[in-house]
Amino acid sequence: MTSRTDLNREKKELLEGVISGKISFHKLDSLTDKKTAVMIRRYALEESSEFKFDHIQNFSIDVVDASKRNIENMIGVIQIPLGIAGPLKVNGEFADATFQLPLATTEGALVASVNRGSSVITKSGGANARIFQDVMTRAPVFRLENVIRAKEFTDWLQDPDVLFRMKSKASETTRFGELVDVKAFVTGNTVYVRFSYDTKDAMGMNMVTIATDAVLSLIEDEFGAIPVSLSGNMCTDKKPAAINNILGRGKTTVVDVTIPASLVKERLKCEPETMVEVNYRKNLLGSARAGSMGYNAHAANVIAAMYIACGQDPAHVVEGSSAITTMELTQYGDLYCSVTLPSMAIGTVGGGTNLGTQRDCLRMLGVSGSGTPPGSNSKKLAEIIASAVLAGEISLIGAQAAGHLARAHAELGR
Ligand code: NAP
Repeated sequence: MTSRTDLNREKKELLEGVISGKISFHKLDSLTDKKTAVMIRRYALEESSEFKFDHIQNFSIDVVDASKRNIENMIGVIQIPLGIAGPLKVNGEFADATFQLPLATTEGALVASVNRGSSVITKSGGANARIFQDVMTRAPVFRLENVIRAKEFTDWLQDPDVLFRMKSKASETTRFGELVDVKAFVTGNTVYVRFSYDTKDAMGMNMVTIATDAVLSLIEDEFGAIPVSLSGNMCTDKKPAAINNILGRGKTTVVDVTIPASLVKERLKCEPETMVEVNYRKNLLGSARAGSMGYNAHAANVIAAMYIACGQDPAHVVEGSSAITTMELTQYGDLYCSVTLPSMAIGTVGGGTNLGTQRDCLRMLGVSGSGTPPGSNSKKLAEIIASAVLAGEISLIGAQAAGHLARAHAELGR
């Protein structure tokens, strides 16, 4: 690696320009190549604060690619330990195999927890996984003159010919995305129009934003309604929202497994009845009493760790964590467990999925890039992650039922 003293004259001038404030950090990208820009930003920070970075400069991902799509003012890379949990058998429509799960986390005991849950699920025959809906949404907001005009607008939006023209307009902006549904919501003279798209293997937020922008021009031209904002927060992106839990957003995924009572006793060291009670009083009653949107034990933990490992947008943990975990006894005394995730934003193309380290994890799961047919890879990834969430839920509720949560944390996390 070039040291500061080895910089040639041109690079030294750039560094001095940044330190003196004559060149801004972001301007560097247009004055030199991306790799040099990353290095000079770092050197400038070191010079002005009189300290030295020890780690962030050591990485293997492609700076040019990352600077183009994923980051501005890049100075280096943060490393998060990557662990493996599994094998986890998944009986999905798209993921029908046994997987080793990549989890990027700094929380000791998380990988061990998912590992234990995976072993119980796999021994029970695997997690059944199904996707009930797959749409990404964008909801612009319009201000109409009054409620009469608002009603005319929502009627107009329901006209099948209008829908056809909106679909055609959206399709001009993407080869893969497809507008599938339009729903209007009214508040006085304000109208929110929630556009839902099938985005195939892309998580789709950029795709639907671009497509919706094109549809807005059609609405303006044909109806004369002018949007206040391309997003009116009824989408709802990266905020906890009941609308996502009810209507679904991203992949609405449900997984379940029935664990034989003997396995609960042998592996989880507790009784199925105790787990049912812990789940009822904690995940259901406790969450209701707290006004929580997450009726689960720690779905966010598993989603965050797998999202980071697999190049997903980590901010979508917000929606992903609104999951409901159920546990009940079967007529034979075995333990039925399910997790319902109404809103998982997931893609295997675009966003962070192109970064080398994240692509390695996607390749390990056999879901990197575009699927055959398109859409099948991202659905497969959703089924795998949802099954991993189920594993985490079973392990944690089992630990709490057996009363040894504190011990696991003391041994593994400290
Ligand atoms: P994207 O990289 O912007 O778009 C996906 C690209 O993949 C498109 O160019 C698409 O082609 C192409 N593609 C190739 N094969 C495909 C396949 N099999 N299925 C679907 N598309 C395929 O990614 P995105 O998923 O739309 O957006 C993800 C990014 O949006 C993330 O970085 C996230 O952080 C960010 N984000 C944006 C917003 C926003 O409001 N804009 C909000 C939240 C997050 P076409 O061009 O033909 O469609």
